[in-house]
Amino acid sequence: MEQKLSDDLLSAEQRDARYVMHPLTDARANLQSGSLLMERGEGVYVFDNAGNRYIEAMAGLWSVGLGFSEQRLVDAAVRQLNRLPYYHAFSQKGHNPMVDLAEKLIGMAPVPMSKVFFTNSGSEANDTVVKMLWYRSNALGETRRKKFIGRKKGYHGITVASGSLTGLPVNHRSFDLPLPGFLHVSTPHHWREAQPNENEEAFATRLATELEDLILKEGPETIAAFIGEPVMGAGGVIAPPATYWEKIQAILSKYGILLIADEVICGFGRTGNMFGCETFGIKPDIMVLSKQLSSSYQPISAILLNERVFEPIADETHTIGTFGHGFTGGGHPVAAAVALENLNILEERNIVGHVRDISPALQDGLRALSDHPLVGEVRGLGLIAAVELLTDKSAKSSRHPAGALGKRAAAILQNKGVISRAAGDTLAFCPPMIIEKDQIDAILSALRSALDETAKEML
Ligand code: PLP
Repeated sequence: MEQKLSDDLLSAEQRDARYVMHPLTDARANLQSGSLLMERGEGVYVFDNAGNRYIEAMAGLWSVGLGFSEQRLVDAAVRQLNRLPYYHAFSQKGHNPMVDLAEKLIGMAPVPMSKVFFTNSGSEANDTVVKMLWYRSNALGETRRKKFIGRKKGYHGITVASGSLTGLPVNHRSFDLPLPGFLHVSTPHHWREAQPNENEEAFATRLATELEDLILKEGPETIAAFIGEPVMGAGGVIAPPATYWEKIQAILSKYGILLIADEVICGFGRTGNMFGCETFGIKPDIMVLSKQLSSSYQPISAILLNERVFEPIADETHTIGTFGHGFTGGGHPVAAAVALENLNILEERNIVGHVRDISPALQDGLRALSDHPLVGEVRGLGLIAAVELLTDKSAKSSRHPAGALGKRAAAILQNKGVISRAAGDTLAFCPPMIIEKDQIDAILSALRSALDETAKEML
């Protein structure tokens, strides 16, 4: 009772500090101040509990493609809640929204796909893919084919297997990850990783050779699959160098290794095509989709499998009598109904066309900041971009501890009403795809003034 009374006098932020442990957060810092709590959203904007308005220039977590107030998505959820609020997909049962969505996704896929398996998050989807391919290898009698190759700075989630696919130290440290058998090759980041005078094509050739050397060292018969985001997101928005995907795919097909495209960020328009695979000529065996699939109004993710992946798995389920894997909420009818409506809206309003039309304003506007003393590299395409900050342009380094510049600049920018995301010293931008030119201009002018202020403090 005493606890209840005192709680009534506390702000939501104070109660947050008292009761909530946040992901990707310094828990001690949160005990001091609580978190910034959002109260409502409208278009590209969110409003905090104090009524302050922010442009959500990260679309939440790269995910609210249609913005924060799409009534049709709300209506789709309510309709489905009224009709059938829950059903599952276990034991040869299911429901109509899941079937409709699966059919729609197979129809949209840029390469022939056979089946869709539904999960609730990107991490669950990637964890499921790992288990599916272990299962498939056993089905084929290839019991040594269990290793996965990802990339340093790749992000595929945080569960035990997806966190092992991820190549970011902060997601491994103190978690005893990655698991054995999860290997990582170099980041395809030309500006930072290329040797002096090595052009993009030569750099891509070197990375493909590195991959081939690793496959030969490990034994091609031990590698289940290679996984990559068409454009790396959480690792700092890294678009691959010219010819990279072509050369990587040539190596994978030479050794019969499956390719998983993690389209969790790139999927559904972000790069200016419906899928990142189209932008880069990627022909995957498996596609992992989430986030903009439902504009994140509901948690849902989908794994698309081609025949080559599905057939041996199907045989094994028949031998065993079932596929012993699945989630209570996987393909939830409300989430599936919202996702379907989201895809209909994307098509009806030609959101991909809008991304193509509007993205030069963001990309060119950010590139115009290249002359700023704190800006090392501006990169990105479509409506995903990043600005990497430093204090020494020629050494491409910062005199501050790693991440300090990014954190400070993001905080100053947030005070100016724009939410970005600091990945180390890189500020990422990935606004709702419905953003308009004047809103992009507002991001750009707030960013320039935030960088000026950061420079005054830290240069
Ligand atoms: N894959 C990619 C490319 C992602 O960016 C993310 C999340 O940011 C994930 C997977 C994991 O998704 P979730 O956070 O829904 O588990």
